[in-house]
Amino acid sequence: MTVGCLALNSSFEPLTLVPLRRALRLVIDGKAEIVEADSERLVRSAYCAYPRPIVIRLTRFIHVPRRFRRQVTNTFLFARDAYTCQYCGRASARLRTRESLTRDHVVPLSRGGTNTWTNVVTACSSCNTRKAHHLPDEIGMHLVRPPTEPHFVHLSWAVRRLTPIQSKYIRTFYGANVLHQIEALDNRGAVERPA
Ligand SMILES: [Zn+2]
Repeated sequence: MTVGCLALNSSFEPLTLVPLRRALRLVIDGKAEIVEADSERLVRSAYCAYPRPIVIRLTRFIHVPRRFRRQVTNTFLFARDAYTCQYCGRASARLRTRESLTRDHVVPLSRGGTNTWTNVVTACSSCNTRKAHHLPDEIGMHLVRPPTEPHFVHLSWAVRRLTPIQSKYIRTFYGANVLHQIEALDNRGAVERPA
């Protein structure tokens, strides 16, 4: 399993996982410093050997636009809803062969609905087809739970694998509770996502 290097903003806010080579480049260029490294495993560049970086911190603060963070993607949407259809309550593992998870707009786009976190839910393809251009109430469908905008960190980390050392930085910045929720999401996804 390849685990990337966790990149922190200069404020220690966890930003993303970057490939090892990219992390090393940032360090060599003086754009980041190594916060945690595996000194048992060296990575060689043209001129020297470095301990393998596990966590790096950018030397200059970078501004991450809110809009980018809040973009709805199916990967994050399905993770938010625990890979479960929000109408019939079936998890992805219980779907039939020709069914799949899809994005449903609670208020359909054709009726003025928007593509925002509070108007999209995970739906199996059967429920999505049945609902079509209706509002749930109109055809007796009910949401398992109303959609909410998830905390950025839930989305960002729900679909990634973290090492224990990297998890420590997530916990430090966001609290143990958030880390626990992320791990719960991660486990569920691994179990229920079809191969
Ligand atoms: Zn369904």
